[in-house]
Amino acid sequence: MAHASPLLGGAEVHLTWRDGAACRDLDTAGFFPSPCESAGERAAREEAARQVCGPCPVRVECRRHALTVREPYGVWGGLTEEERRALYTDPAG
Ligand code: SF4
Repeated sequence: MAHASPLLGGAEVHLTWRDGAACRDLDTAGFFPSPCESAGERAAREEAARQVCGPCPVRVECRRHALTVREPYGVWGGLTEEERRALYTDPAG
């Protein structure tokens, strides 16, 4: 994606879907599992991440990326790693 940037005197800058990410300026640690987290902590962390993903303008692109490269960890595009794994193994998915 390319846009003319007023900040760069109208120069064209190339953007990727990541530039529009709602999580771009956040600490994304909350999107990824911690080795010591309990099941309850994990559920709460994933739900908090989903709240960020919900209105994210690049959610579809993010989800597509995660499914394409089979991102093994974290919440991407509002999907947890378990949900993505289920899609990989579900013949209907
Ligand atoms: S969908 Fe979620 S993980 Fe993906 S870029 Fe948006 S906020 Fe970040």
